[in-house]
Amino acid sequence: MLKDNLNEIDPKGATIVCASKYVGSSSIRKMYDLGIKNMGENRAQAFLEKYDELKDLDITWHFIGHLQTNKVKDVINKIDYLHSLDSIKLANEIEKYSNKKLKCFIEINSGEESKSGIDYNDALNFYNELKKYSKIEVVGFMTMAPNTDEENVIKGVFLRLKDFRDSIDKSLYLSMGMSNDYKIALECGATHIRLGSILWKGEY
Ligand SMILES: *Cc1c(COP(=O)(O)O)cnc(C)c1O
Repeated sequence: MLKDNLNEIDPKGATIVCASKYVGSSSIRKMYDLGIKNMGENRAQAFLEKYDELKDLDITWHFIGHLQTNKVKDVINKIDYLHSLDSIKLANEIEKYSNKKLKCFIEINSGEESKSGIDYNDALNFYNELKKYSKIEVVGFMTMAPNTDEENVIKGVFLRLKDFRDSIDKSLYLSMGMSNDYKIALECGATHIRLGSILWKGEY
C-alpha cells in the first residue's frame, strides 16, 4: 500500500519530491491524495502527458532528469523547479523561452559514472554567471551519489555538496538523496529528497 510506503519515511522536515517516472497518472493521483504534492519527472515527453492528465490537481512539478535543450520550450513554462541546470547552453534556452523566473538547482557531477552535472571546478563560475540571467533563480544544488553500498563514499559525496553550498550561501537548498541513500542525505543536510522506488513499492 502506498500509505504504508509513505509511513515508513521520516523526511525530518525535508521536502519529499516523489519521482513519478515509474508510474502513470492514476497512481500519481493516489499519491497526491495521500498528501504528496511535489512530483518529479525526468523525461520531457512523459512529463507533458502526465501534466495534461493531472491539470486539475495542484501539483508542484519538478523536472529532475537531464533536460535536452530542444525540449526546453515545451517544458519550461509547465514546471516549478528544474533540478538539473548544468550548462550555459541550457541556461540560454531557458532565458529565451521562460515566461517567469524559474527556480533552478545547479546539478553538480559527483562521480565519473554520471555524465550529467557540472564539475566542481566550474561550478562557482557557473553560479556567478547565472546571476546575469533574468529568467533563472538559483535556489540550490543537486547531485546524485554513485550507486554503491559504501556508506562512507556516499556520505563523502553529500558532505562535499553541503560544504560547497555553505561556502556560497547557507540558505540555498540541497537536493540530494534517493531511495537507497536518503537517510544519509538527510544526515548531511538535504532539504529535498527525491524518492521513487521506495514510495511506489507494490504499485508497479
Ligand atoms: C528516478 C530518479 C530518482 C529516484 O530514484 P529511486 O532510486 O527510485 O528513489 C531520483 N532522482 C532522479 C534524477 C531520478 O531520475
